[in-house]
Amino acid sequence: MSRPSRGIEVIVVGAGIVGSAIALGLARQGRRVALVEARPPVAWAADAAPDLRVYAISPGSQALLEHLGVWPQIAVSRAQPYQSMQVWDAGGGGSLGLNSHEAGLPALGHIVEAGLIQWQLWLALQQSDVAMHAPARVEAWADDGGEGVLQLDTCTLRAPIVIAADGAQSPLRELAGIASRGHDYGASGLVAYVRCARGHADTAWQRFLPSGPLAVLPCTQGLASIVWSLPSAEAKRLREAPVEVFERELTRAFDARLGEMRLASERASFPLRLLLAERYRQGPLLLAGDAAHAVHPLAGQGVNLGLQDARELLAVAEEAAARGLPLQHPPLLERYARRRSSENQLAAWSFDGLNRLFSNDAVLPTLLRGHALGLAGALAPLRRLWVRRASGL
Ligand SMILES: Cc1cc2nc3c(=O)[nH]c(=O)nc-3n(C[C@H](O)[C@H](O)[C@H](O)COP(=O)(O)OP(=O)(O)OC[C@H]3O[C@@H](n4cnc5c(N)ncnc54)[C@H](O)[C@@H]3O)c2cc1C
Repeated sequence: MSRPSRGIEVIVVGAGIVGSAIALGLARQGRRVALVEARPPVAWAADAAPDLRVYAISPGSQALLEHLGVWPQIAVSRAQPYQSMQVWDAGGGGSLGLNSHEAGLPALGHIVEAGLIQWQLWLALQQSDVAMHAPARVEAWADDGGEGVLQLDTCTLRAPIVIAADGAQSPLRELAGIASRGHDYGASGLVAYVRCARGHADTAWQRFLPSGPLAVLPCTQGLASIVWSLPSAEAKRLREAPVEVFERELTRAFDARLGEMRLASERASFPLRLLLAERYRQGPLLLAGDAAHAVHPLAGQGVNLGLQDARELLAVAEEAAARGLPLQHPPLLERYARRRSSENQLAAWSFDGLNRLFSNDAVLPTLLRGHALGLAGALAPLRRLWVRRASGL
């Protein structure tokens, strides 16, 4: 079946958080948008078990979700603000502490379930003018003289701009032949909810261990979410270990900083990899979110970088409208591609470097690492700069 798509200005592929935010934002600017999603999200429910995947939403990302009108519903559901961040190295003595007051922010961020954000965006999309194609899958791509043509399993769509926001595996990036580089970390992120004997103190905690960082993130209802980066075999062993063994090893890995830790959910793990697309723009096709960059989770910035892509795209579209230019005006699209690619590369390689530095005794002697962290923590201007950057404002 071929459905006419005349008049569509932008097709967004992927209704993950990034694609949904872009589609919704463009529609709110009065653009005619179509959104293609292969697997519509599962309804989020307050009485269901919380989603194991949580995001540390930065103030910058929160501002975008506010602008899109979905933050109030998220905030009253399950969003846990955190005022402090504590980072320390298992080997060295130094630690780094950041708090929202010295950065002049009401909170450093909020820990929110991925499924909750995605669901609220999905509900808002249903109320918008976005033409939804879901479930529908992209099967072929062509650049027809500067116009993007998407062959779906249900129909054919065409538009002057197509945005691939279809995740790290991005079928559309592959179909368009855009290469990517990066590497597998040979590691996995083990995630679960726990309860800590001493609570979580509204603080995002991270301990660097030779095997990888262990993050303990404060959630609502007194829960904490762990993201424990481990060599893949070790992650599998701990995912399947008897609960008492898991709890004992987790408490020890966290140096019992919050007392005994008790498992409060299932455990899951996901492979960690670094992926950077070689181009963010190819003719009418733009990449955004994980389709363009997948990063190590140690800084909790994966989805924040994607939402910054969304912000930049929306700013470009607004500028085009203000200057009376077509949305596909090449210098504006190039600006998006250049800015986001350099920002994301800087972030991805910084996280990669931090991971190498702290997860490998051979790179820098343990004592030196601890001192470096302590020194960074002692310099107030450096701390403030770090917070401002991480906040995405
Ligand atoms: C298991 C797991 C745990 C993670 N945990 C964390 C974490 O703790 N903190 C953090 O910051 N980041 C985490 N990440 C990374 C984070 O999830 C991503 O950065 C974020 O989801 C990127 O959003 P996105 O919208 O770009 O892509 P995605 O969320 O991957 O969304 C892509 C969408 O495209 C759709 N799609 C794919 N192919 C097609 C097609 N052919 N046609 C139509 N639609 C298609 C998919 O169904 C999906 O809905 C995790 C990732 C994974 C896989």
